Amino acid sequence: MIKVNILAVGVHPDDIELSCAGTLLRHAELGYTFGLLDLTRGELGTRGTPEIRSREAFAAAEKLGAKFRENLDLPDGFVTADEATVRKIITAIRDCQPDIVLANALSDRHPDHGRSGRLVADACYYSGLLKIETKDYSGVMQEPWRPEAVYHYIQDRNRAPDFVVDITKHFSRKMEAVACFASQFNDDVASVYSKEPTTPISGRDFMEFLHAKARSLGREAGYDLAEGFNAVRYPGVGNLFDLD
Ligand SMILES: [Zn+2]
Repeated sequence: MIKVNILAVGVHPDDIELSCAGTLLRHAELGYTFGLLDLTRGELGTRGTPEIRSREAFAAAEKLGAKFRENLDLPDGFVTADEATVRKIITAIRDCQPDIVLANALSDRHPDHGRSGRLVADACYYSGLLKIETKDYSGVMQEPWRPEAVYHYIQDRNRAPDFVVDITKHFSRKMEAVACFASQFNDDVASVYSKEPTTPISGRDFMEFLHAKARSLGREAGYDLAEGFNAVRYPGVGNLFDLD
């Protein structure tokens, strides 16, 4: 078991990099640790192959400084809230005992995102129940563990955030992690992937969109660049001056 402060979960490898990598880098700067959990290998993705994406995902994790990157090998497009799936997610949560979990948006352009966002939030709750028994990867009984909070990262659709995180200093490193997924995001003629079908995220304009989105999310809080989150349970603050 590797204990981390934050566990970021995405249904597809690259959801985390696109949506909350800057936040993870910011908290690493503050001394917190984080791990990454992908639910599927993104095998239905139009471009690349699961093997390529797996290599890309590990390169991105290294770039970000994650303590680990794990994949639950659930079926892309068909992740459901059945018992076996929920137990797999609970086992992963109990294995790293995160204080905060970052999960997919509760509703988004890609239907997998909303489904997985709800599934992960539910699994965080069930993970705290004593009578759901699970064993770790070496067969040892796990302790119940409920993260203190689950926050849903805003990805594709323009959802109004409940709070934003300043990623101004970390945006370029985030984009280096995004660039690790060259099969998904690179349409340059020089790229080996340039002959693959184009998708809404494969062109250079998508990188401009990511920058514009970060600018837009940061604006109201007075940051140059930010990532946005939704919280089902609204967060509190003990000191108004802690709010920017
Ligand atoms: Zn996705």
